[in-house]
Amino acid sequence: MSATDIDEIRKSVRQLCDRYGEDYWLELDRERGYPTEFVKELTTSGFLTVLIPEEYGGAGLGVYEAAVVMEEICRAGAHAGACHAQMYVMGSVLRHGNDEQKKAYLPKIASGELRLQSFGVTEPTTGTDTTNLKTMARRDGDNYVVNGQKVWISRIEHSDLMVLLARTTDRAEVAKKTDGLSAFIVDVQAAQGNGLEIRPIESMINHHSCELFFDDLHIPAENLLGEEGKGFKVILDGMNAERVLIAAECVGDGRYFIDKASAYATDREVFGRPIGQNQGVQFPIARSYTEVEAAWLMVEKAARMFDAGEPCGAEANMAKMLSSEASWKAGDVCMQTHGGFAFAKEYHIERKFRETRLYQIAPISTNLILSYIGEHVLNMPRSF
Ligand SMILES: Cc1cc2nc3c(=O)[nH]c(=O)nc-3n(C[C@H](O)[C@H](O)[C@H](O)COP(=O)(O)OP(=O)(O)OC[C@H]3O[C@@H](n4cnc5c(N)ncnc54)[C@H](O)[C@@H]3O)c2cc1C
Repeated sequence: MSATDIDEIRKSVRQLCDRYGEDYWLELDRERGYPTEFVKELTTSGFLTVLIPEEYGGAGLGVYEAAVVMEEICRAGAHAGACHAQMYVMGSVLRHGNDEQKKAYLPKIASGELRLQSFGVTEPTTGTDTTNLKTMARRDGDNYVVNGQKVWISRIEHSDLMVLLARTTDRAEVAKKTDGLSAFIVDVQAAQGNGLEIRPIESMINHHSCELFFDDLHIPAENLLGEEGKGFKVILDGMNAERVLIAAECVGDGRYFIDKASAYATDREVFGRPIGQNQGVQFPIARSYTEVEAAWLMVEKAARMFDAGEPCGAEANMAKMLSSEASWKAGDVCMQTHGGFAFAKEYHIERKFRETRLYQIAPISTNLILSYIGEHVLNMPRSF
């Protein structure tokens, strides 16, 4: 895509976001509401479905264009976390679904008839140690019967479908710890009350995360995504796209903070002059701007490599780490620049500050990225 087309995407996304405005997000944050209208408009206007191929009703664009959409949403002061998973969870169905699954789900996801916003991996007792997860799916005739528990599963109450990762073979019985895991497409409405219990978690940001309890949930065998026992690959394949998109959101958050901080530093007068005239106020904003823009270069690199089909695990991870740290620092600088007003909700900064903090922890924490780089890029000894 040309630079003009990218500018056009940015402009259209921004216009859409401007129709909602920051007060819309503040109100949702207060009442823990879901941005149903925003997500609907983002879908019908084609932005949330940019990654779905044209034959299934999407725009058939790449992760780079998707990253631009996410970045612009966050820069506008909106909260892309309410809907970002639709982009990358869909990728698991696209890459690993069989023809019937793709025909059944992708056109409806593209039209907005079905929402695939939920991704069930994390468990309370095993956390980052994914291959040790305990939720079991046992084959029983034409079904798999699922028992276990998940935690922090976001947007499930606002989703028709969830991609679930469970063990189909005990870890003790497989040669490699990544074997014996399987991915499933779960019809959330049908499952709820029939073996699936959903309990919302009260949390620091409006992310709609829940605990899930599985008690003999029956999933039709045809809902297996990819091969039985090879579900880890189904999940892993989506992770690079997820990291790039979330990194782009962080850059959007960072640019949002810099926009706000530089404008306020220019307007606000104390001691008879703009506070931004003091280098003690100006330099942290300039430094933060530099860090955010540097992080964007890594996001661009990772996205381009992803779209070219090149291995980009290192770049996607580095992009996520650099941008989540840069956006958090930009948030801190923005808070400091606004002084006491940073704490007033009507300034919106404290909400974005809470939201952007998540990305140093989820979907993968910084330490785990560092261990990936240390081991897989720099060939240092494995730590776990
Ligand atoms: C708001 C929110 C939304 C989420 N949404 C989803 C979702 O939709 N779906 C989903 O499946 N999950 C979701 N998660 C879960 C998220 O992916 C995990 O919280 C994250 O992967 C970290 O896992 P954990 O919380 O269990 O931390 P732990 O694994 O317990 O780790 C705790 C800390 O210890 C560090 N640590 C652990 N092991 C090591 C080690 N060997 N070396 C160095 N440091 C280590 C980690 O870096 C981390 O900082 C969400 C989480 C939150 C908070």
